[in-house]
Formats: sequence, structure tokens, C-alpha cells
Amino acid sequence: MFCPKCGTQIPENDHYCPTCGEPVGTAAKAPAETDHTAMFEPEDIERSRYLAGFCYFSVLFVILALLLEPNSKFIRYHINQAVVLYVFGILCGLVAIIPFIGWIASVVGAVACIVFTVMGIIHAVKGQAIDLPLIGKHIVVRYD
Ligand SMILES: [Zn+2]
Repeated sequence: MFCPKCGTQIPENDHYCPTCGEPVGTAAKAPAETDHTAMFEPEDIERSRYLAGFCYFSVLFVILALLLEPNSKFIRYHINQAVVLYVFGILCGLVAIIPFIGWIASVVGAVACIVFTVMGIIHAVKGQAIDLPLIGKHIVVRYD
């Protein structure tokens, strides 16, 4: 195997070129398709990341964010993630009307909700747009 950038021969199991540091093999893969960070303006992210994080706490912050930053695509991305999460939370509550299986699903769903909320807030504050696991690929609020 040779480096695509500088032509140095690279040992079989290395992930980076020893000469120029170019990623090769599995390390050279494109970023995960769940990471949309590159499609947002850095200034937009920098200005709105904390407000985007607050959107996961309450629908009131979603409304506030839309009023304060109506043109921020980064905020709308996280509003979409948060709204999908709110719908997921409501569904988790509804399945609790089914005895036993529904109760278990409801508890598992509630734990997932808490974990996803924390993940969403961390992504927003770090300025990342990464889809939440399982539910994050759904689009309710357009952001492109
Ligand atoms: Zn190289």
C-alpha cells in the first residue's frame, strides 16, 4: 500500500502515512452520513449554538429561538432534532397504556429520551450537527 498523497510505502495495518500524515484505508473514509456540520456557516454555528442547545429543554425555547434567530439554519437543524425527540417522548408515554410490554417499552424509551436529550445539547453547544441515534434522521422542521 502506498500513500495517495506523497507515494511513501505504508505498513499494512497503519491508518496514517508515516511521512505526511495522510489518512489511508479505513481512516480515509468520508465523515459519517449522520454528521451534517459541514453544511452550516461557521458564523451561524458560533452565534447560535447555545440557543440551539436550549431548544432541547422546552418547546418554549424552540419558540424563543425561532423569534430571535429566524434565519439560523443551525438552530432550525437542532429544533428539528428536538421536535422529533418531543414526539418520541410523547409516544413513549402513550405506550404505557399497554400493560407490561408497554410499561417496559415506556421505561426504556424514557431512558433513551434522557440520553438523546443530553446528546443533542452536547452536539449543539459543541457546534455540531449530528443526527440523534435511531430517531434523528426524521425531518419535521426543514433546515436546508
Ligand atoms: Zn504520505
